[in-house]
Amino acid sequence: DLYSRFAQSFARHADRVFIEDAGRDWTYRDIARAAGRLAGRLIALGAASGERVLVQTDKSVETLILYIATVRCGAVYLPLNVDYTEAELAYFVGDATPVLAVCRERSLDLFGRIGGKGLAIRTLDQLFADLPEEEAAPVARAPDDIAAILYTSGTTGKPKGAMLTHANLVSNGEVLIDLWRFTPEDRLIHALPIFHVHGLFVAMHCALFSGATVIFMGKFDAAAVIRAMAGATVLMGVPTFYIRLLADPAFTREAGANMRLFVSGSAPLSADIHRAFEDRTGHRVLERYGMTETGMITSNPYDGERRAGFVGPPLPGVLLRIAEFETGRVLQQGEVGIVEVKGPNVFKGYWRMPEKTAAEFRPDGYFITGDMGFIDTDGSVQLVGREKDLIITGGLNVYPAEVEALLDDRPDVAEAAVIGVPHPDFGEAVVAVVQPAGAFDAEAVRVEMRRDLAAFKVPKTILTLDELPRNTMGKIQKKLLRERYADLFA
Ligand code: ATP
Ligand code: MG
Repeated sequence: DLYSRFAQSFARHADRVFIEDAGRDWTYRDIARAAGRLAGRLIALGAASGERVLVQTDKSVETLILYIATVRCGAVYLPLNVDYTEAELAYFVGDATPVLAVCRERSLDLFGRIGGKGLAIRTLDQLFADLPEEEAAPVARAPDDIAAILYTSGTTGKPKGAMLTHANLVSNGEVLIDLWRFTPEDRLIHALPIFHVHGLFVAMHCALFSGATVIFMGKFDAAAVIRAMAGATVLMGVPTFYIRLLADPAFTREAGANMRLFVSGSAPLSADIHRAFEDRTGHRVLERYGMTETGMITSNPYDGERRAGFVGPPLPGVLLRIAEFETGRVLQQGEVGIVEVKGPNVFKGYWRMPEKTAAEFRPDGYFITGDMGFIDTDGSVQLVGREKDLIITGGLNVYPAEVEALLDDRPDVAEAAVIGVPHPDFGEAVVAVVQPAGAFDAEAVRVEMRRDLAAFKVPKTILTLDELPRNTMGKIQKKLLRERYADLFA
């Protein structure tokens, strides 16, 4: 089980620093001991095997300890984004029926209102006050038992609770530390939230499984990250991190000279940014692809070519194929279709949504990711957009990524999102929403795009916004854009 894997590192690297927080260094022994003491308290509050512990707190070392302690109890860890509103939280609490909710001071009343009788509610301070000296013994779990429920980001609809097993998390972590060459000497800059698969599992498990040190940051601040690089080796980030680093003149080749690896994921990293990053630093960002339901699926190689605009071949042990969405017919290399995956990383199903779960798997056990893409001759995968974002205009398919790439490459475009909006003649019309970089002439750009794109792919309209709407993970919220511009051609 997952805790046994943690315990292996706690024993092997006991005296090494695991977490470097602003005010304090925590060795592996310190964290293990704190988690052991906290586990007793959690059990007293009802965190038995399989029970859910819901956590909505600011990023802190205590939250990380709470995660480890929950896994140690055999309970199910359920972290939530702090941005959720009362209505959303009521849905999560009703859906997950936790025994314990750990929240910020200011949310105590709110959880009291939505929680009902059975729910224990604590702040982190209350939870950690006067902890018992003795450590509770770890509770063993089977590989197929649930270790965590993570809600998806809600980019395409209501967030779904993905049930992740002990085996899912252990297998994915082991593959990644091997692939990305993690060692106890590594020092990882951690500026991601820890309620999401990227910051909690990909980043934290890579460090924890390998005995590395985490440079713990409450949030992403470009200047602080650049300063930390002199004493760090790895950064894991979303594309917005890389965009913001490049926007800071203090980010130079020298600033990144000590680093050995920059990883990007959670949203597409434009080829343009990939190249700009290499020009500035000499490093090629390693882009990987994954999702809440599956952990990591593909990764560009550590050695070998890291291709801009590609997410790499499937990870060892992960089976990936491209199929026709409607029929499930498996497609050939080079053909665009839906990405499907199978392997020890693939989740057990959506929490309390058996029909939804059944609908997302093929009869032979492949999970239908919802992302569209193709496999290139070298085995590397390119994503072309989500199935739900596919635009069908006059009966022809337009993959947003192709049009976005063309716009992103332009010096007058910071970033573009291409969407389909209802159109009386075409069914849907291609519309680009652009965050300009300096002067921008939409009509002139449209004319130029005609040179590189078939007419039906060229946006009927290019709109500009000062800032594209994004969520905390830096994902562009196309659903919001579609709603906003629904009446454009009405
Ligand atoms: P929801 O499922 O609720 O609509 P979501 O899919 O955004 O939200 P996550 O599980 O956080 O929720 O994100 C997984 C998705 O992120 C993938 O399906 C894919 O669309 C996108 N993604 C992740 N990494 C990459 C990448 N390197 N390039 C392009 N897209 C990526
Ligand atoms: Mg999804």
